[in-house]
Amino acid sequence: MSAPAVPRTAPAVPFHVPHTAARQDAYLRQVLESGDHDGDGPFTERAAALLSRITGAPKVLLTPSCTHALEIAALLLDLAPGDEVVMPSFTFAPTASAFALRGAVPVFTDCRPDTLNLDETALEAAITERTRAVVAVHYGGVACEMDEIRRVAAAHGVPVIEDNAHGLGGTYRGRPLGGLGALAAQSFHATKNVHCGKGGALLVNDVSLAERATVVRDRGTNRHQYFRGQVDKYRWVDLGSSYILPELLAALLAAQLEEMDAVQRRRHALWDLYHAGLAGWARDQGVTLPVCPPDREHSAHLYHLVCPTAEDRAALLRHLADHGVRAAFHFQPLHTSPAGIRHGRSAPGGCPVTERVADRLVRLPLHTGLSDAQAARVVEVLLAFRTGATGATGTAGAHGPGSHRGGGSAPHAGPAAR
Ligand SMILES: *Cc1c(COP(=O)(O)O)cnc(C)c1O
Repeated sequence: MSAPAVPRTAPAVPFHVPHTAARQDAYLRQVLESGDHDGDGPFTERAAALLSRITGAPKVLLTPSCTHALEIAALLLDLAPGDEVVMPSFTFAPTASAFALRGAVPVFTDCRPDTLNLDETALEAAITERTRAVVAVHYGGVACEMDEIRRVAAAHGVPVIEDNAHGLGGTYRGRPLGGLGALAAQSFHATKNVHCGKGGALLVNDVSLAERATVVRDRGTNRHQYFRGQVDKYRWVDLGSSYILPELLAALLAAQLEEMDAVQRRRHALWDLYHAGLAGWARDQGVTLPVCPPDREHSAHLYHLVCPTAEDRAALLRHLADHGVRAAFHFQPLHTSPAGIRHGRSAPGGCPVTERVADRLVRLPLHTGLSDAQAARVVEVLLAFRTGATGATGTAGAHGPGSHRGGGSAPHAGPAAR
């Protein structure tokens, strides 16, 4: 019994192609001709204003990456060695590393099996008297259970910080992601919906932190007060680093943010195409598709499948690669990673859902360079795949375990991170 055959000869479908904005070349030229490349120029102002409008954040500071924005957040918390920061295990290394750099202990919490976000029911048990913050990561741009997370954090007097690397453009109960934590970190890495090659932003929603965040970002100096004429010389006043985004990259970012509505429309159309095309197949094959509860809008940052077993995932990645579809797995659990073991610990109960999902998840190509025909091809290739799920019923092609198994070896396809 074999699955329907699909041709193997079509040109490869790339996993990711960074978006190109129409005005980016002109904006770059403008900066080069201005001779003012440093940062905090007119394009920085324009990009920050756009981000403010999208997220509602009252203060936006562009940074060289999301990682750097998280590092600023960690500095603003005045962490002491042994302080703890609660976060999901299912996230990218810098979510944890930024806080561990300040001597804090990341406390890794499990994720919900549906949204793959921090399990809010496990949060209370993860908090101790050393907890200084909770980091919420909106996986794939589907919001965390923010009301409950904020309630638990507030009951313990600690702020919530959003790692909103995936979430720009998403909402939760009518409110934009990035505007829900005391601070939020954005990424404009080339793999994100809009990008400048490598960049980020710190969104400061708690305005009492705005002045200090500005100092930390500018090497710990009060240079911004000097430019405003508030002091006659600027000095070293706090810990900080060189966290300002160069103006050339701000120009790229401004061009991208100006097109963000179109980028999001296109990504949502592709996401919806996958979701509709794969629903019946996923049900039959025991594959889980992304879940977005009705009280929130996702950001169409990624489209993922969770296979019934790790062997199914290995076989599926091989099947996709054999048919020229570039796919990838994603985050490896932080609580079992070498640095996670050294610098962090698991919350009570461990992270069994994270371990299961990380071994079974596949991300599909999703980018503005993808045509409808290419997305339809991805669907067609997937529909020809059968998992070994014994519970799979209802299709003529379904079969017992084994025939599409890959012998259990780890998949070699696809980058592990991002
Ligand atoms: C991409 C990503 C980051 C890091 O972004 P950079 O801008 O590359 O530093 C952080 N957290 C998550 C969840 C990410 O996906």
